[in-house]
Amino acid sequence: MMYKRGHAKDFDNWEAMGNPGWGWRDVLPHFMCSENNTEINRVGRKYHSTGGLLTVERFPWKPAIVDDILAAAVERGYSISEDLNGDQITGFSVAQTTSKNGVRVSSAGAFLRPVRERRNLQIALNATATKIIIENQKAVGIQFYQNGELRVARATKEVIASGGAVNSPQLLLLSGIGPKEHLRAVNVTVVKDLPGVGENLHNHVSHTLSWTINQPNLYDLNWAAATEYIAFHKGPMASTGLSQLTGMLPSLYTTPDHPDIQLFFGGYQAACATTGEVGALMNDNGRSISISPTMTQPRSKGNLRLASNDPLAKPIIWGNYLSDPMDMEILIQGIEIALSLANSSAMAKYNMTLNINPLPACSVYTPLSKDYWACVVRQDTGPENHQAGSCKMGPPHDPMAVVDNRLRVYGIRNLRVADASIMPQVTSSNTAAPSMMIGEKAAAYIKSDWGVGGTQWYGKASPSPLWKNSHYNHWKNH
Ligand SMILES: Cc1cc2nc3c(=O)[nH]c(=O)nc-3n(C[C@H](O)[C@H](O)[C@H](O)COP(=O)(O)OP(=O)(O)OC[C@H]3O[C@@H](n4cnc5c(N)ncnc54)[C@H](O)[C@@H]3O)c2cc1C
Repeated sequence: MMYKRGHAKDFDNWEAMGNPGWGWRDVLPHFMCSENNTEINRVGRKYHSTGGLLTVERFPWKPAIVDDILAAAVERGYSISEDLNGDQITGFSVAQTTSKNGVRVSSAGAFLRPVRERRNLQIALNATATKIIIENQKAVGIQFYQNGELRVARATKEVIASGGAVNSPQLLLLSGIGPKEHLRAVNVTVVKDLPGVGENLHNHVSHTLSWTINQPNLYDLNWAAATEYIAFHKGPMASTGLSQLTGMLPSLYTTPDHPDIQLFFGGYQAACATTGEVGALMNDNGRSISISPTMTQPRSKGNLRLASNDPLAKPIIWGNYLSDPMDMEILIQGIEIALSLANSSAMAKYNMTLNINPLPACSVYTPLSKDYWACVVRQDTGPENHQAGSCKMGPPHDPMAVVDNRLRVYGIRNLRVADASIMPQVTSSNTAAPSMMIGEKAAAYIKSDWGVGGTQWYGKASPSPLWKNSHYNHWKNH
């Protein structure tokens, strides 16, 4: 995963929205406490750290075209940043990733796997939480399906929903916490009328442009690449190809300290040759690369609702992308930047040919005009995987707030939400690192609220005594 934290101003805005404890100065230690940055001499200790559970590095391999794109960026007047999580937050960079010695690291791999043998921790596989059990406005456990059986886990202290920006609001709604009219409409008993649950759902929005280039369309993953990876953790498999490159740029509507456009790149990901032969061609149509300009400070907000009270039914998501005209303006600016990179002299040697997919609905517009892009972007909208905001953190006077600044659900005792859903406004770049930071903050609040000792530097501390008191119990067919 690309390791991007968002900008200081994102978090200062959270604090200004009525969330004390979430300004940049407050959250930075919680990013750093999980971090084991293996390039600390390059990125420095002002914003980075070593010794945490999450290894952060750059991949050891990148395709040569990365340097040409960086040259194109310089040609267009953009700077190259050594570290977009550092002092220079605008420009282009080969980003750091959550990987270790060339091998990708998931959050489960970083945080759970090292402690999975603890006697006070049980991880239920193939389990789906279906309801939070609430007695007298207090969360006392959860109901879940596991291997076709309905089970219950009781909590002696509290329940934490961490299902992400789609599943956490879904679980709250299934548990009777949400807008009362909606709950009644789907036959869920209202436990707490909380209008904000499922509201404020938003996401980064992009449009992917692709070009054919004059390079052979090779399968980069062959026996040689596999052997290099297995033996040395190097080569195309120890990489995400062009995806490790990114650009953070301000549109005309923001300030340089709060860039609102991110460029993602695609191509040169190791694809598998069935023959294993080095130099095997996928086809002779030429290789494709892509740039996905992305608008990262969305003003458009959608929502999420239950389709029914069946806990296994998928919820209904109304993205409502690009409903605010400013979002469209900014995305089109991003597209124009991407096109200018492709048309630079640094990229001329690739003879980049834009793959235009004729869309009947947009045929009335002059190709590549602003109106044309406005049409294409609506027809072929690219939601990122950065959903956020659907259990918004906010002060008590905010009618749309679901959790307070210690992530406690309003009106229900002993229930917290800790994931991307609590972001009042999504951060301005990739959302994994801030979601992990939210987890670290939640751990610190839980320990302090229950008066258990230990340092908040969870990643580097001994196991929390809290877990020793946890009680895990289940009954078949409860
Ligand atoms: C394909 C893809 C690529 C991405 N790449 C990047 C990247 O490079 N960099 C980056 O920063 N971000 C990236 N993201 C975004 C990032 O992964 C998310 O923002 C982040 O994982 C959100 O964390 P979360 O804890 O809110 O939710 P999640 O990571 O989604 O965690 C929720 C967990 O809860 C589980 N769950 C949900 N419902 C239930 C239930 N009812 N019962 C039991 N368990 C449940 C889910 O299985 C999941 O394990 C990517 C996302 C996707 C989908």
